[in-house]
This record gives sequence, C-alpha cells and structure tokens, in this order.
Amino acid sequence: MVLINKEHLSVESYNWAYAAILNALTNPELAVKQAKIASSIQTKARIVKSLDLKLLFCKKCKEFSPPILSSRIRIRRKTLLISCSVCGGIYRHPLEIKQQTLK
Ligand SMILES: [Zn+2]
Repeated sequence: MVLINKEHLSVESYNWAYAAILNALTNPELAVKQAKIASSIQTKARIVKSLDLKLLFCKKCKEFSPPILSSRIRIRRKTLLISCSVCGGIYRHPLEIKQQTLK
C-alpha cells in the first residue's frame, strides 16, 4: 500500500497547472484537460487552493480561463476585478493583505 500525503498531491496539482499554463497558447484543448486534472486533484485531496491557482479558473462557470489569455483583470479600490471572457461573469478578489498584530 502506497501512502500519498497532501504535500505530494499539492506539488502534483501545481505541476499539472503549470503545464496547463505552458500549453494554453500552443494546445488549448490539452491545457483545459491538464487544468481539470489539477483542479480535481485539489478537490479530492481537500487542499486549500492558493490565489494563483484560483485565478486560473472562472469563479462562476468553473472553466479554465487563465489571465491575459481569456480573462481580463482590472484593479479598482484595492480589489481585483476579474472578468471572464467565456461566460462574461465578473467577480472580485480583495488585494489587501491581513497584517498580524504584534502583542
Ligand atoms: Zn466564466
């Protein structure tokens, strides 16, 4: 029996996502498949997705829409406005970083 921990699965999903970004221009169909594999690894392993991986997928239609290629990003009032070109949905992400208070 092979034990696979969450760190290994996290690295594996990052590798799939990175490959999807690289193939997004040259082979978009392959990039979509690789991005779905990366997403499914994270959901099945219950890994909290980081912002850079969240930006690869549309929040509304859940499709692969990497920034610059198929989604538009604007900054307004300390938030990222991300508009998907697949479904036309617009969603926001705060830019502020929570600072820990020293006691
Ligand atoms: Zn969308």
